[in-house]
Amino acid sequence: MKHSKLTQSVHAGSHGDPTFKGVVTPLYPSSAYDYEGQAILYPRYYNTPNMKAASVKVAALEHGEAGLMFSSGMSAILTGLLTFLKAGDHVIFQSDLYGGTYYSVTTELPRLGITYSMVDATDPQNFAKAIKPETKIIYIETPSNPTLKITDIKAVASIAKAKGILTMIDNTFASPVNQNPIDLGIDMVAHSGTKYIGGHSDLGCGFLVTTNALMEKIHSKAINWGGSSDANTAWLVERSLKTIVLRVRQQNANALALARFLKSDARIGNVFYPGLEDHPNHAIAKVQMPGGFGGMLSFEVKGDALAFTNKLKLIKRALSLGGVESTICSPLKTSHSKMSAAERAAIGVADNLLRFSVGIEETEDLMADIKQAL
Ligand SMILES: *Cc1c(COP(=O)(O)O)cnc(C)c1O
Repeated sequence: MKHSKLTQSVHAGSHGDPTFKGVVTPLYPSSAYDYEGQAILYPRYYNTPNMKAASVKVAALEHGEAGLMFSSGMSAILTGLLTFLKAGDHVIFQSDLYGGTYYSVTTELPRLGITYSMVDATDPQNFAKAIKPETKIIYIETPSNPTLKITDIKAVASIAKAKGILTMIDNTFASPVNQNPIDLGIDMVAHSGTKYIGGHSDLGCGFLVTTNALMEKIHSKAINWGGSSDANTAWLVERSLKTIVLRVRQQNANALALARFLKSDARIGNVFYPGLEDHPNHAIAKVQMPGGFGGMLSFEVKGDALAFTNKLKLIKRALSLGGVESTICSPLKTSHSKMSAAERAAIGVADNLLRFSVGIEETEDLMADIKQAL
């Protein structure tokens, strides 16, 4: 019997303690294991017990056959991409990518003789138009950073499938609780485990989830390239994942309430949140995010946005996202600081835009903090 997500978050991949019969997966820090009578276990083989437990749990939550845990989200993303790319190949990315991914692929791919196109993902036909004979991968990210645009996952997956092109998605913002792209036809799902999967702003890791057949290829490359995580982080992640459904449900509820609240205040400009009825792709978001619209939103403060962030008391000013504590950041000062003003304007990142990672605090307390800062 297939259990619900809430039950899987607690039990999938976890196993007890055969020596003392404890109820949680013990921490196995060994880097050396007997090779007789079992597969060779070794940290860089990505197969020690705690890495396995965390990977199986993420794969179950993502409705995928196989999962692999990496030392960072970028390690997962680049390993997934480069496993299937070689010189002469072409990739299509959606243009508003997470900053780290943008800098990574625009720096590393040309050096390897791999070309790419960047397309506006709000119309799936833009992907179809950008396909070349040498296109090997289509890569999307939805909701996008930092303006929460929505890409129609199913439409993009079917365009790619018709041409035999692999699809990859960065599902970090949605979390496996809200959106399961494999159900919509996507081949590979990447996560920065540093965000909602870790959930407490105290660790870094990444995950890939895909089919057994694709994972076999990814795993063999991953062993060559390194980038594996470690037992301590894996053990902590498996523990964190037991509450991911509860955490994200509260974050969904808080973010929706705060988006509506911000929208009603005359001192706030645009509010970007896929759960708002007037978001341009709200209807698509509703279908492809059955668990909820996520804990990320962004908004423009009329006047001095930086002065506003300085006055917040409960909501912390910080980069990164997905923690139980609410954090806010200015893309101008952080993720998008290396872009020119024209580049920022082209992707709709105004200087007074703030990106809000909503935590699990009481909704009214967060509203009160925003009110006093305004
Ligand atoms: C943080 C993040 C990444 C990169 O993950 P790291 O763990 O920092 O390597 C990739 N995509 C998104 C959407 C992120 O938020």
